Amino acid sequence: MNAPVSMGMMPELSDQELRRFGRHLIMPEFGIEGQRALKAGSVLLIGLGGLGSPASLYLAAAGIGRIGLVDADVVEETNLQRQIAHGYKVLGTLKNASAEARMLDLNPDVVIERHDVRLSIDNALDLISQYDVVIDGTDNFPTRYLVNDTCVKLGKPNVFGGVLRFDGQLSVFDARHGPCYRCMFPEAPPVEFAPNCAEAGVLGVMPGVIGALQATEAIKLISGIGSPMIGRMLIYDGLDLSFTTVQLAKDESCPTCSKAPEDIVLKETVMVCAAPVGRTISGEKLQERLAARDDMIIVDVRNPSEWLSGRIAGSRAFSKPDLEQVLQDTGETDLPKDRDLVLVCQSGMRSSAVIKSLAAAGYLPSRLYNLDNGMNAWSGAVETE
Ligand SMILES: [Zn+2]
Repeated sequence: MNAPVSMGMMPELSDQELRRFGRHLIMPEFGIEGQRALKAGSVLLIGLGGLGSPASLYLAAAGIGRIGLVDADVVEETNLQRQIAHGYKVLGTLKNASAEARMLDLNPDVVIERHDVRLSIDNALDLISQYDVVIDGTDNFPTRYLVNDTCVKLGKPNVFGGVLRFDGQLSVFDARHGPCYRCMFPEAPPVEFAPNCAEAGVLGVMPGVIGALQATEAIKLISGIGSPMIGRMLIYDGLDLSFTTVQLAKDESCPTCSKAPEDIVLKETVMVCAAPVGRTISGEKLQERLAARDDMIIVDVRNPSEWLSGRIAGSRAFSKPDLEQVLQDTGETDLPKDRDLVLVCQSGMRSSAVIKSLAAAGYLPSRLYNLDNGMNAWSGAVETE
């Protein structure tokens, strides 16, 4: 069992609370101490959209004592396909106001602190410092990096969730005990590799799954039960209903969490466009070429643990850090320049970055292929060991 995040005075529970939380109290691993820890605890929920909708309702229902809401948007009709904290009756009103009303109806004792603003470098430190745990429910990279950097600087756990199309991701970034978001993704990807739900679409129930899991992690952190997802990333594939957990390592040269807190400077993340390099190949097309015994070489640039947990049969492991290190040290790799290379990662993002590095090292862009959507979209043969 972990120590609860909130180490303040444990409040007593009222008779109404003892009734309402009865299903919690009868579990010996949770019990009255777990419930009192939740009441003493606080969560800052950033974004009251698809992820924030289920997270806000479950946090209030579970008995978290104080919940901050950060959102400046109003409810629009196109939100209602997934943002179930809201509804037609509140179209045009602030999402924070809508969520607050639903949360107080579930639990009149929860203290809701509305921050009807966008998170920015001017308010992030002040807002995040007031809470025990942060839930990032945003869908844009600038806010995601700002939440990450602020949480690292302040030593707060950041419950990260992301959804796109039919996929979801979840992790707990707590730089005191594990990696941070920048250990995985040091800088924002180019705009064209960073679509949001408005551009790429999302199945409405996907944020419901991930948002509920974010609430679970926040409840675990505050009550001290179970093992939080620190140093691990859950990858949820809704189409074949698979949950995969990959280990995440701390990057000792991470631009954020390798620094002392006082040296971390919050900065605006600017999304830039980059001209795509190389070609894209679909999973179906790659299967066709493999079936035709094409002599292309498949290079998997994921981390060794990801490669071991499942890879395209016959693919070669050459992780992005290793490959970039070799290029940096020697200016070349042992990958042939006269064969078609198919670069593969989990989502297609890291492999596209590797393609740029290879092109810069003299590989013909016309021989470099990026597997579209990476292993997330691969439906062909997979080998493991
Ligand atoms: Zn880091």
